[in-house]
Parts: sequence; C-alpha cells; structure tokens
Amino acid sequence: MTPDRRTLLHAGVSVTATLASATFAGQSPGSPEPQPLKTLPLDDAESRAAAAQDFGHIIQRQPRVVCKPRSSAEIADILRWARQQELKVAARGQGHATYGRAMAEDGIVMDLSALTAIHRVEPDRVVVDAGATWHAVLEATLAKGRAPPVLTNYLGLSVGGTLAVGGIGGSSSRHGLQTDQVWELDIVTGEGVELTCSSTGHAELFDAVRAGLAQCAIITRATLRLMRAPERVRRYLLHYTDLDSLTVDQRRALGDARFDQLQGAVVPDGAGGWRYQMEAGVFYDSSTPPDDKALLAGLADKHEIVSDLTFGDDANAFAKLEKLLRSNGQWFNPHPWLLTYLRGSNALAVANKVIAGLNSDDLGPFGRITYYPMFTGTCRTPLLRLPDEPVVFPFNLIRIPASPDKANADRQVARNRAVYDRIRSAGGMLYPVSALAMSPPDWMDHFGPRWPLLREAKHRHDPGGILTPGYDLF
Ligand SMILES: Cc1cc2nc3c(=O)[nH]c(=O)nc-3n(C[C@H](O)[C@H](O)[C@H](O)COP(=O)(O)OP(=O)(O)OC[C@H]3O[C@@H](n4cnc5c(N)ncnc54)[C@H](O)[C@@H]3O)c2cc1C
Repeated sequence: MTPDRRTLLHAGVSVTATLASATFAGQSPGSPEPQPLKTLPLDDAESRAAAAQDFGHIIQRQPRVVCKPRSSAEIADILRWARQQELKVAARGQGHATYGRAMAEDGIVMDLSALTAIHRVEPDRVVVDAGATWHAVLEATLAKGRAPPVLTNYLGLSVGGTLAVGGIGGSSSRHGLQTDQVWELDIVTGEGVELTCSSTGHAELFDAVRAGLAQCAIITRATLRLMRAPERVRRYLLHYTDLDSLTVDQRRALGDARFDQLQGAVVPDGAGGWRYQMEAGVFYDSSTPPDDKALLAGLADKHEIVSDLTFGDDANAFAKLEKLLRSNGQWFNPHPWLLTYLRGSNALAVANKVIAGLNSDDLGPFGRITYYPMFTGTCRTPLLRLPDEPVVFPFNLIRIPASPDKANADRQVARNRAVYDRIRSAGGMLYPVSALAMSPPDWMDHFGPRWPLLREAKHRHDPGGILTPGYDLF
C-alpha cells in the first residue's frame, strides 16, 4: 500500500474512485467519469488473504480489495463502481462455502460481517440484515418465544449465505427450505439498484434471488417467517445393521410423521466399516412430555435417547462438534464435501452403490454420510432443484479429513465429480454447496427447465456479469 493511501485509510477518509483507479488500473476507455467510492476498500495482505480462503480450504483466489459495507446504499455504490471498473464482486457472509463460491479473483469481496442488525421481531416475522448469523437470529427470536421454522444443522452460517443456496434442516419435510420461509428481501442488483422484492412485488427477482447462487443481486435484508418456539426437543438415535433396514424405518417414520425432525446417517465405525443410524427429534412443552414407547413402536429395537434439551440448546448442538474440530485442527483442513438429493424411487440402490465404493478414510473419523428421506411438497423455491418426486433423500458426503493433505483433497474432489455424475445419471440433483468444478453446461443441465428464469434475470439485473464468479455459471 502506498504511504498516501495508508494515511487516508487510517484517517478514515473516503477513498475516491480517482484514487482507486490510480491504484487499480482497468477502467475501460470511453466509460463515464468514475463516481466516488464511499466505502474504504481494504487492500492489505491480511484482509485479502482472509477473503482468499473458505471453509473448504481447497480453492484460493486473491481479491484485489475487500469492502466491508455498512448499509445497502454502500453496497449499491460499490456495485456501480465495480461495474465501471469491470471488476467481479462476490458477497461473503461467514465464508463456509467449500469451493471458492464467495471469492473473486482480482476483484472485490464484499464482506457482510458489518451488516448484522436484527431490526424487528414480531409474532410472525423477523427482519434481519443478511450478514447476521442464524445463531443471532435464533437468539433474538427465542427471547420472544418464536423461532424460524427451518434451521440449518449449524447456526454459524449467515442468513444471506443460506438464502443464496437454499438452507435445509431437520424440519424441511414439514416446512421446506429456508428460502421457502421468506416474506420479503431487500436486495441490490448487479446494476447497483436497491429494491424490495417478494411474491407480490418484483416477484421474478424474488424467485431468481432465492437459491439463485448470488448471480443477480446481493441480499441486504430479509423478512423471515417465524413460528411459536417449542420449549424442548427430545432426540432419539436408532441403530441398524445395514442401509436397507435403516431406509425401511426412515420411510415408516416419515410416512406417519411421528417425529418433528427426521434425519439419519452412515458413519465410520472406527474399524473400517459403517454404522447406520436414524436420528429423530420431537418438540414438546414440559407439561406434556413425549410418549417414548409410542414414538418408537415398530422401529429398531436398538435405540437410545441421546439428548433432551431446550429448543435453543438443541439447535446449537453442532457447536460442540465445531469446538472439537477447532481444537484438533480438523476444522481448518480441506473439506471436499459433496451434497446431493437422490430420487426417492432409487435412493437405496444408488446410495448402496456409492457407499460400496467408499471407505471410511474417504470421510475421516468425524465425517459422515447424511442420508434420510424428506417430502418435497413443501419445497417451493423455483431455483432449488430437487428430483421431481414426492420423497427425496439428501445424500451428502461430509468429508472431514484428519490431515491437511492437499493432494488427498484434490483426489476427493475428483471422486466427488465421479459420484455426482453417477447420481445425476440416476436422476439425482446437486445441492450447490458442494466441492466440485461445474461448467456453464453443467449448470444449464442442473437448472434444467428453470435455467431461463436465472439466465433472463442475470441478463436483466447484472448485465455487466460482475456478480459471484466463483460458480462459473455464465
Ligand atoms: C459446518 C457446516 C454446516 C452446514 N450445514 C448446513 C445445513 O445444515 N443445511 C444447509 O442447507 N447448508 C449447510 N451448510 C452449507 C451452507 O449453507 C452454505 O455453505 C452457505 O452458503 C454458507 O453460508 P455462509 O454465510 O458461510 O456463506 P459464504 O460462504 O460466505 O457464501 C456462500 C455463497 O453465498 C453468497 N452470499 C453470501 N451472502 C450473500 C448475500 N447477502 N446475498 C447474496 N449472496 C450471498 C456468496 O457470494 C457465496 O456464493 C453447512 C456448511 C458448513 C461449513
């Protein structure tokens, strides 16, 4: 950084585009006189290095600068400026993407960590800034006895980050994805236009932004649906010897809706094999505890109650694993995750084949294969792609390698591609938070009949093509 520039940044003086264009070459000839950029761009090595990493630790892309906007107006200003300068821009929430999707090589990373206000909690809705974490949203709403109907298993993700992809949780069978729980979004389009969209106003943008992989706009504020928060959650773990018997019981439990949350997994048993488990939760108020016998009737003999916690503590349970992985260093290793949805009609056969080709080292000691059925009837977000069947199975290879070995991570990414191709040819779909390269034709195939919706919105609202290059969509 030049001494002049450092002086300006330290003095907190706004940097103008004139200064910026002197520092960042690349304004195209004949473009209009640059407007002042009101947000301080950070171009120090530390800020750029942090924005060149994500939870995946597989891809690194250095931005030219990082901006930390404090308002929608500042975001609009940065986007207009970036378009003039022909710089790519990626929003960054909590940086938990796994394959560089919040990065912008030689462009601008817009760090939303200063945009975290919880504006209002009403009985049926909460209004939050998009950089807020789900943890903060839950804390604020629980204080009023309310909660979002769908929470991700990990609450350290930002609202904008999950609304850009979908946001699935244990209650998705009942309530759909987090993108189905949105009343209204405040956004800034790739042209730098500030708008409010909902199912009744700018509906086409509302549909293109939710699960739209941040291609048309940056979400600045969200109005999200709330439900009454249950007091407590009792969790059951049911054990099986194989995937077939697990699937039979999962389907039975899904069919009669006996649990409020239903998930499941295949996990390394520590001896080179697998353990098969159904994970189920029941919400209750302390005056009416659940009837364990009735809930477990007809399901696996081998079962246990693994926890009985307040709703808030239960929703935060992943924090324990996070703490462990941070302390043993595995949180910072590469995470070549693959997340998909299988068709209900062939999920068992496809999952069995994929699992037969894996060994537990592919996942690491704390890794797992998530596998459970969910109804799709409540999932209505147009760009969230699911197999067209009433029941689908999220099928996720949550790889948590014990070592930071980069070559191993690259091999797993290559395997992800092979597994994805097999799943796709069996009618399955990608959940696009996965670690694998996708080309524009792959994306066209992924979005299928919904591709025109995204393509038209992209052309209309981000005509400079500056937003979110990390997906390689256009
Ligand atoms: C430990 C862990 C657990 C997870 N559990 C779940 C789970 O249970 N369910 C689930 O659905 N997913 C889960 N995920 C995946 C997660 O939902 C996505 O990776 C999500 O995008 C991460 O949010 P983030 O705030 O870290 O986003 P980032 O990594 O910062 O960004 C992800 C993408 O969203 C875009 N983006 C971020 N903010 C905005 C915004 N305001 N407007 C527009 N675009 C934006 C970015 O540009 C980028 O393309 C998990 C991930 C991890 C690491």
